[in-house]
Amino acid sequence: MDSIPQLRLAIVGGGIGGLTLAVALTRMGVDAKIQIDIYESAAKLTQVGAGITLWPRGWEILKALDLEEDLAAFLNPGQEIPSKDKLVLSLVFKKSDQPEDVHISDLSFPGGSVSFHRADVLTVLLAHISPRIQIHLGCRLTSFVESDADVELSFKNGETARCDMLVGADGINSVVRRGFLAKENNLSADDAVREAHPLWTGTTVYRSVMESSLVAQLDPKHPALLRPVSFCGKNKHVVAYPISAGRQINAVAFFSDPGKENTLFDGPSTVPKTTVNVSALYPNWSAETKCITDNMINPSRWAIEIVKPLERYGAGRIVLLGDSAHAMPPHLGNGAGQAFEDAYILAHLVAASPPVSGERIDIAHIIASYSAVRQPFGNFVVQASVEQGKNYEFEGAEFADVREGDTVAPERLAALEERISDLVRWTWDSSIADDLHHALELMGAPQVTQASTCGTRRE
Ligand SMILES: Cc1cc2nc3c(=O)[nH]c(=O)nc-3n(C[C@H](O)[C@H](O)[C@H](O)COP(=O)(O)OP(=O)(O)OC[C@H]3O[C@@H](n4cnc5c(N)ncnc54)[C@H](O)[C@@H]3O)c2cc1C
Repeated sequence: MDSIPQLRLAIVGGGIGGLTLAVALTRMGVDAKIQIDIYESAAKLTQVGAGITLWPRGWEILKALDLEEDLAAFLNPGQEIPSKDKLVLSLVFKKSDQPEDVHISDLSFPGGSVSFHRADVLTVLLAHISPRIQIHLGCRLTSFVESDADVELSFKNGETARCDMLVGADGINSVVRRGFLAKENNLSADDAVREAHPLWTGTTVYRSVMESSLVAQLDPKHPALLRPVSFCGKNKHVVAYPISAGRQINAVAFFSDPGKENTLFDGPSTVPKTTVNVSALYPNWSAETKCITDNMINPSRWAIEIVKPLERYGAGRIVLLGDSAHAMPPHLGNGAGQAFEDAYILAHLVAASPPVSGERIDIAHIIASYSAVRQPFGNFVVQASVEQGKNYEFEGAEFADVREGDTVAPERLAALEERISDLVRWTWDSSIADDLHHALELMGAPQVTQASTCGTRRE
């Protein structure tokens, strides 16, 4: 540390969002000026997980953080580093709850989407975190107390710590969100637990990762060997796409009970290993669907849950980032992408913040500017993801007459294609640069030039 730290920043959660924030702060040289600690509940950063898809907005950030080259090593065959100059066929939609697939849409857009194994993304992020940033493993936050002077953190292992600014990057079941909501709404401990509890969307998934060679043996032309495919049907759909430089396929089989939307899921929301026969859930679906579901051996099971929309993503000394602020269904492949966006904006605001009153940074101003930009956008993406899931599963009122396996007229499928495209268009025809500009403006901070990677060059 070059001088007395102006700020002690604690990041709770070393997942996608927490580590991206640490990388962004490193890239901006902030780690030399402030004290940054990451507290992660896991004893080891095991880099677990399955596939994540990234869209041009998310890729823009990874490029700005100088991670493009490292991630390129994990691109799948036929994929290139996304460039907005090139139209790329990125997603294929089929109606597949019948023996022959019916084409719905081939979604092409500038730059295209790229898919990775979550573990590969975490490995790349970890390699770019400054050694000045301390990662404390085995530290599960249980509670915190915010005062005018600072925040006191308490961990399950009995340890305590203090910080000036607390970033809750602790995922969908965030302890930081619970404490934040308790203070915001003056809730009792029990009421805060209820208020912070995620809501079930009515959808459950089985997830697994399989060797691509298995699929290639059964069907050498299977589309999931090359790009994401969504096999859609009434109240169910199956998504499959290549990861790990094409060596594996990530498969997710969704099935929904629309009547259960916004209820509490009964039972554990994640079961790491099951013995379910996934194909039995999709009887009479197409051969391409069956080729995927037949190979989902010992899949994990997840209840798809969301965070109730928050009115703001932080206040005072507390700020929420990633799933803790806006956990969403995976139907737009954007949970990680939104965590990148949060981290990128927050890091810029911390980096741009001029010290006020001696050596302290105006934390409340950083958090208010962050929330003003990120809350409307994050909440919009949650809602758009929920709606997109209904499109994939023919759940809109216009498909009330459709049952599993029914033939749907081409003009109705064309209208569906239009709706699917409309809901995803923002991922390539908007830019994070505009949001960053707005956030810095709110802070009264200098703007970052277009060519700048991480705000090291300023106008
Ligand atoms: C089926 C499925 C498919 C998905 N597909 C995609 C996709 O294609 N594209 C995409 O962008 N996103 C996808 N996502 C979403 C994505 O995985 C998440 O949105 C993303 O990981 C959120 O990052 P995060 O850092 O907020 O949370 P996480 O990555 O969950 O990290 C939270 C971290 O906090 C730690 N932690 C939790 N509680 C505590 C505590 N009390 N104290 C200390 N540490 C704690 C955890 O151990 C973890 O390391 C998908 C999600 C699901 C369920």
